[in-house]
Amino acid sequence: MGLSNGIVDTLMYDFLRKSGGVAVIDGGLATELERHGADLNDPLWSAKCLLTSGNLVRQVHLDYLEAGADIIITASYQATIQGFEAKGFSKEESEALLKKSVDIALEARDIYYEKYGESCRPILVAASVGSYGAYLADGSEYSGDYGNAMNLEFLKSFHRRRVQILAESGADLIAFETVPNKLEAQAFVEILEEGIKIPAWFSFNSKDGVNVVSGDSLSECAKIADACKKVVAVGINCTPPRFISGLILAIKKVTSKPILIYPNSGETYDAEIKQWVKNTGVADGDFVSYVNKWCEIGASLIGGCCRTTPNTIKAICRTLPSRSA
Ligand SMILES: [Zn+2]
Repeated sequence: MGLSNGIVDTLMYDFLRKSGGVAVIDGGLATELERHGADLNDPLWSAKCLLTSGNLVRQVHLDYLEAGADIIITASYQATIQGFEAKGFSKEESEALLKKSVDIALEARDIYYEKYGESCRPILVAASVGSYGAYLADGSEYSGDYGNAMNLEFLKSFHRRRVQILAESGADLIAFETVPNKLEAQAFVEILEEGIKIPAWFSFNSKDGVNVVSGDSLSECAKIADACKKVVAVGINCTPPRFISGLILAIKKVTSKPILIYPNSGETYDAEIKQWVKNTGVADGDFVSYVNKWCEIGASLIGGCCRTTPNTIKAICRTLPSRSA
C-alpha cells in the first residue's frame, strides 16, 4: 500500500478527531446565493454564479465558515463540462470553470485562516459532484429515473473528466451528492478506482425514508460505497429531517465508515414549477433539535442541504456539546 492510500484511509478519522468527534458541513449554497440576489433560474443552477458572481460564491463560503462549518462544498454540483459546452463554452473554458469552483472555496478558506490563524480549526474543501440527473436539470436527481437506455459506461464517460479535473484542483475530497440510484454509485466508484488521488464521500437521497429516491435499496447503495477504499464517509443529503434517524440506522448496518448527514429543510422540490414548496417543513429550531440524536445513533458529520442557511449551521454548532463548550 502506497503513501497516498494511507492518507486516503486516515484523512476523515484524523479530521473528525481534530473536530472533537463531530464535524459540521455547510448549508445550502443556492439558497444563500438567491438570498443575496443571484438569479439561478438556469440549467446550471448555482454553477451559473461561477460565470458571473465568483465574489458572491466566495462570500457565501465565508459566511458558512463564520457560522462554524468545518467543511465547505464547492459550487460545482451542477457544473459539468457538457452543461458549459451547451452554453457555448469550449472544452478548455468549461474545465477552467470547474477548477474555478474549487479555487473560490480555497480562497475563502485562505481568507478565513488569515483572519483567525490556521490553528483555529481544520477546514476541508469538498468538491461537489452532482448526479447525472442534476445536469439534466429536470428534477430527475429526485426520481433517479434515467430511462431504460441508461448504462454504466455512459455514466462513467459522462462524469469521468469532471471528476478528474476536480480531483486535481486542490480540493481535499470529492463530495458525490444526491446519488439517486445504484448504477450511478457504481459508476462513481469505478471512476475513483481509475486512479483518482483524493478521497470521496457518497451521499444518497431518499423520499420515503427507506430506499434511495429511485427505489433502489439504500443498503445496497451504501454497500457499493463501503466496498471502495477511497470512500471515507457514507450518508444522506437533501432528504427531509424526519427520515434521517431511520436512514442512519440502515447505513450503520452495512458500513463502519463515518456517516454524514445533511438534510434539507423538509420542504419538497417541485420540478414542474422549479420551486421548493412547503409541506411538513420544520423550522430551523426543529431541524436542529434532532442533531444530537443523530450523533448518538451514529452520524459524525452534520450539515444542511437545500433551504438551510448560515443560521442553521450556527444553531447546529451551538447544540453540539463538543462545540458549545
Ligand atoms: Zn439539497
